[in-house]
Amino acid sequence: MEGQTRAIIQSSLNALLDSKTFLPELKDRMRTQAFTSMSAILSTPNKIHKSFLRIPLDDGSVVRIPSFRVQHNDALGPYKGGIRFHESVNEEEVVNLAFLMTLKNALHNVPFGGGKGGIILNPRHYSEKELNLICRKYVRYFSDVIGPDKDIPAPDVGSGEREMDWMMAEYKKIKHGSPYLGSFTGKSVANGGSLGRREATGKGVYFTFRYLFSDYVRDHAEELAASDNPFAATALAHSNRQLKVAVQGFGNVGSIAAWEAYSSTEIDNRVVAVSDRNVTLYNEDGLDIPALIAFANTNRGDLPSTMDQIAQAGVAATLKGRDELLTLPVDVLILAALENQIHEGNMRDIHARIIVEGANAPTTQEADEYLSDQGVIIVPDILANAGGVIVSYLEWLQGRETQFYTEEEVFRLLLAKMKSTMDIILPQFFGDPFPLRQNCFIHSVMRLTTVLYRQGKLY
Ligand code: GLU
Repeated sequence: MEGQTRAIIQSSLNALLDSKTFLPELKDRMRTQAFTSMSAILSTPNKIHKSFLRIPLDDGSVVRIPSFRVQHNDALGPYKGGIRFHESVNEEEVVNLAFLMTLKNALHNVPFGGGKGGIILNPRHYSEKELNLICRKYVRYFSDVIGPDKDIPAPDVGSGEREMDWMMAEYKKIKHGSPYLGSFTGKSVANGGSLGRREATGKGVYFTFRYLFSDYVRDHAEELAASDNPFAATALAHSNRQLKVAVQGFGNVGSIAAWEAYSSTEIDNRVVAVSDRNVTLYNEDGLDIPALIAFANTNRGDLPSTMDQIAQAGVAATLKGRDELLTLPVDVLILAALENQIHEGNMRDIHARIIVEGANAPTTQEADEYLSDQGVIIVPDILANAGGVIVSYLEWLQGRETQFYTEEEVFRLLLAKMKSTMDIILPQFFGDPFPLRQNCFIHSVMRLTTVLYRQGKLY
């Protein structure tokens, strides 16, 4: 596991010793050996499964594709987390992402542990038939370690409903006769998926921003004005005025978050920039997000990247380089692409005073510390992007009961869950001198430590 993750674990565990809400008897135990046990539990995954997938390609050649399933911790329930299909994914990254899933589920009180999978490939380089075989082989290799009560995969970067449908079908075939609907989440609605799962992450990302800067700040304005916490000043300075928003990434998370911002009536905001793997589109007066979504839907998910395509999409925008989005003069940055996007090299050029992490780990530790020291509010991944796994939980429940909720019910339950987490975390955040990420980590680690102690595992 990366050094910076270990440092976060140590500082969260140390913070528990000063926390007023942490069990006193457990605090005493933590001062002795339990601290080391907990640190070891968090910094090492329970299991790492690896396999090469041997795939005959359409042209008759054969490739061996490396793949993983990391099971980080299952104290709170079956392992849970997506499978990333990406050419640069590696074992260490999957371990870190699995750790973040453990913390994310603990933070939102979702009864799952943390896991993550990875397949090292660029899905754009394979035919549909080849991808289908890759998915089925992945399930064949890992079928004994996954399952509705063991480990429940879901989509992540590079995978979606189609892949989950194929994987569930293979699982059903292998485990003939046993319950299978809960074996994968993020499936299509036709195949036992949940209404609203596709929009859940992006919707949740925007909700965390909206709830913080409209509802919460409005209801606590006096308290925040009297506080000397630098983040309270940032929050107050950004409520009740028009905010310019830039969204990095226009996939499942970014496009929905952009659409939510575009159509929001609660916050006066304008989406002035969006980007994808090719370009940034910019318009100071605001972009026509529905028109861009319509274009992307018919162009393999890509934004218009030439002046001709911009005209074809019917939007007014100027073209900029892909990474220029990050340093534009905006108030809010929604990061919904990949990890390590804001780093030592560009952190001094960031204008936004609010950063919302739709992707996992898009801000490096150096950038996180630097920006937090300047009073920039970073809404961390485990808080902001949990909408996906929360609705995965609802999908899993619906699959067990074979009773399905309406889309309205799904969104109501999703936002209620995110609100209840924020109602615990935000008062701590504006009270303590710690950044929001640290507050979230401390809360997750506290929940996990308490559960492990009660399960008799902390000696
Ligand atoms: N891949 C998503 C995440 O990082 C969703 C995981 C899930 O639904 O299990 O949170």
